[in-house]
Amino acid sequence: MAWDFSTEPEFQEKLDWARDFVRDRVEPLDLLYPHRQFHPLDDELRPIVDPMKQKVRDMGLWAAHLGPELGGKGYGQLKLALLNEILGVSMWAPIVFGTQAPDTGNAEIIAHYGTEEQKQRYLRPLLDGEVFSCYSMTEPQAGSDPQQFTTRAERDGDEWVINGWKFFSSNARTAAFLIVMAVTNPDVSVYQGASMFLVPTDTPGVDMVRHVGLAGEREDEGMHALIHYDNVRVPADSLLGGEGQAFTIAQTRLGGGRVHHAMRSVATCQRALDLLCERVLSRETQGSVLAKKQFIQGDIADSYAELQQFRLLVLYTAWEIDQYKDYKRTRKNIAAIKMLTPKVVHDAVWRSMHAHGALGVSNEMPLAGMWMTAPVMSVVDGPTEVHKVTVAREVLKGYHPSPGLWPTAHLPAKREEARQKVAEWIEHTVGNA
Ligand SMILES: Cc1cc2nc3c(=O)[nH]c(=O)nc-3n(C[C@H](O)[C@H](O)[C@H](O)COP(=O)(O)OP(=O)(O)OC[C@H]3O[C@@H](n4cnc5c(N)ncnc54)[C@H](O)[C@@H]3O)c2cc1C
Repeated sequence: MAWDFSTEPEFQEKLDWARDFVRDRVEPLDLLYPHRQFHPLDDELRPIVDPMKQKVRDMGLWAAHLGPELGGKGYGQLKLALLNEILGVSMWAPIVFGTQAPDTGNAEIIAHYGTEEQKQRYLRPLLDGEVFSCYSMTEPQAGSDPQQFTTRAERDGDEWVINGWKFFSSNARTAAFLIVMAVTNPDVSVYQGASMFLVPTDTPGVDMVRHVGLAGEREDEGMHALIHYDNVRVPADSLLGGEGQAFTIAQTRLGGGRVHHAMRSVATCQRALDLLCERVLSRETQGSVLAKKQFIQGDIADSYAELQQFRLLVLYTAWEIDQYKDYKRTRKNIAAIKMLTPKVVHDAVWRSMHAHGALGVSNEMPLAGMWMTAPVMSVVDGPTEVHKVTVAREVLKGYHPSPGLWPTAHLPAKREEARQKVAEWIEHTVGNA
């Protein structure tokens, strides 16, 4: 029996250090420099952030998602999940710890599929935390249905020429390079006919039409670009992996990415619960603190139990990935936690906001910002419905139709079967007596 929910003491020490460090050193950056985490460090921020990154390196926690061959410690997904439960409370923490999306996934696929030259040019600076990258797949007319993708890349001598539009390409604004998915063979299904390209952001023809922001962000803060790829010419060796391999590559990337979102969302739910409990113990109304009202107690119990269920599934899925090292084999649970994430975040944050009354919905509490992560989590890396379909498909693989007209649990048939079994058993026992 190897079921064990404990954390080895050496790693627990690192987690304890990370928790204090994020609270004392990193969270001030969230308050003083919001929305600057995905911008290259300027003269004001470099002297503050570089030493913090160094501290993280000294603790052996830099880029904890990576294996040793890429400069990480090879902790695996379970330890990463425990760390992300701490980092997920802060916008800046993933940057300071070198584990921010989408760079984690982008680094993973270049490490997996890139040539030596591509690794030197694109991966190295990414791992050093010196540049940002962008994953450019969604199109304005189609996100969750890639069959409608129209961005094309055509071979012209020693070059590829990319034409088309991409939408919600996160961090394109500050990225050094883009990983662009484009159709290279329109005569087959997009799943076989699309390829990935590494495109430096300053390549002529990469036209950032506008930078879309999330609800609540100022117009000039948007980080999700609408990009027109207008006759963008890149050398033949810009192809990442083989021609037609885009979706195989994307699966490598998205599997990990979805789990990492869920890990950080555990932190959001825990924070919401912490704020809820503090508030209801502090606020008195109609003769008692809110914590004494049964409706509120119900909310606390629901938030606690849902968080524990969600967290255990996230940790179990992370453990599965470490065991099997195969995202396909863990697809069912990855999709299950992806589909649960927006719901648990929504409910946990909602209850906490509500218990804070007017203050909860104000811009003087972090709750409204946390609440936005629920609708974001329901579409980012594919909408909930798509993941539910995946879960159902995977679950159904373990079942068969019943052999006859009636379900196998149909009681009259089961009773008859039981009668026969008992009769045989009595005959056998009596016969042997
Ligand atoms: C914060 C954020 C960051 C993002 N970053 C990136 C990025 O860096 N790069 C990138 O390429 N993309 C990015 N995206 C885009 C994201 O991948 C897409 O939003 C997502 O794939 C859904 O596509 P869509 O927005 O076009 O919605 P649509 O495909 O139009 O879907 C809209 C709705 O239709 C319903 N729906 C869709 N499919 C089904 C179905 N099979 N069954 C039932 N209902 C369905 C769902 O309710 C869904 O929400 C980001 C999105 C967000 C919100």
